Amino acid sequence: MSFTIQGVLIASESGYETVDVQIVGERITAIAPQLEPLGTLVEGKNKLLLPGFVNAHTHSPEMWQRGSISPVPLELWLAELYDFAPLEPEQVYLSALHTAAETLLSGGTCLVDHLILIPGREMETIAAAAQAYKEIGIRAFIAPLIQDASLAASLPSGGIQQDIRPHLHTAATVLALIEQSVAKFHQPEIGISVIPAPTGVHLCSDELLKGCVELSDRHQLCLHTHLLETRAQQLLAQEKYGCSAVAHLHKLGFLGKRTSLAHCVWLEESDIAILAETQSTVVHNPLSNLRLGSGIAPIFHYLASGVNVAFGCDGASSNDAQDLLEAIKIGSILHNVTDPDYRRWITPRQAIAMASLGGAKGLNLGDEIGTLTLGKKADCVLYDLTHLSLLPRTDPIGLLVLGRSAQAVHSAWVNGKQVMSAGQLTTVDLEHLRQALFAHSQEKMWRDSRTLPALEKQYRAVMGLTS
Ligand SMILES: [Zn+2]
Repeated sequence: MSFTIQGVLIASESGYETVDVQIVGERITAIAPQLEPLGTLVEGKNKLLLPGFVNAHTHSPEMWQRGSISPVPLELWLAELYDFAPLEPEQVYLSALHTAAETLLSGGTCLVDHLILIPGREMETIAAAAQAYKEIGIRAFIAPLIQDASLAASLPSGGIQQDIRPHLHTAATVLALIEQSVAKFHQPEIGISVIPAPTGVHLCSDELLKGCVELSDRHQLCLHTHLLETRAQQLLAQEKYGCSAVAHLHKLGFLGKRTSLAHCVWLEESDIAILAETQSTVVHNPLSNLRLGSGIAPIFHYLASGVNVAFGCDGASSNDAQDLLEAIKIGSILHNVTDPDYRRWITPRQAIAMASLGGAKGLNLGDEIGTLTLGKKADCVLYDLTHLSLLPRTDPIGLLVLGRSAQAVHSAWVNGKQVMSAGQLTTVDLEHLRQALFAHSQEKMWRDSRTLPALEKQYRAVMGLTS
């Protein structure tokens, strides 16, 4: 398929310019004023074309619990999350579609799904998510969430004797699962990738982490993991390794330009230098960090040190939405309260670049997507500048980042294929999805987690919280 987007506004070095943009097959083939029309013509007047954003960290099955988990820190929140996680692949399919739909509707064309697996039905879970992403047409990195330790092991011991049960799976079992799912579902040429994604050092053995590095090297796969999201994880790493989690991952060969690391709230100065040197990417999830009280990631420090930073929504139970523009807005203005030197504050244009090129680099796709450049893959989004939320007309990118522009996306392309047109998804029936989600809903105002109270005593003791 070919498209000519006529008379559209794009960002330029000095401001904006009006051009025609042509897409042929998967790629952007021409950008110039008044091109010879080719293929489907798209009216670009009063519209802004930007590269698609990357939702660089999420967990799609969390959709089923959004708005419901108690206001508690990550370690206790996880207990509640797992007690009520969906157990049917059909639910995983629907929440993956839902996550992709909300990502597309807020300017994203790519996502990293750190996919929570149904115990005992792991391959079915991955198959359900892959099916959803193929249908909707978003570029997806399916990152099955794997670990070989049970949840209680994620708490620092604080010198207190703990009775921790072994996890359901061994390192060898989960590594075999990833190997199998790569063989079955990894098809980057059609926009579906499968990548090794251990939960984090707090729940994984060295054997598992090294196995992920080995798989990544052998199949040229990206790596993804949570890193130092909370103060408790920082304490645990010191207990477990006698050094920071970053230093430990570096020792195992986990860090590199194909590696993206969600959160990075509790890093040492020396850790930041390691991330810069290894060209690893930090995925900033500001809403989740606020919701769970994890802290504020020192993003200005990362940027000043040359660390690549992308934005993520994180799962919909710790956010509780998948609105990328909202994450970009909060994630760029949040830090102004941490640093009075306004010369370091993130501008709307910088925020857009972090969300698009920053996200692409974190997936080792910086040469393929992330900017509107001739020869790059056409992953791009057209915004309607006459939408109520973008009026009165001032600076379009400023309005988009600093305003509250829900539903301003007019069209979107992924890999040259149009997946949104006239504000609607073209690949799936959103009304049908809405009805299916409604039919599967289980409205529960009150529920009791069994695991949360079991962990709470230990958590309060090691975090120095009085009872
Ligand atoms: Zn996460």
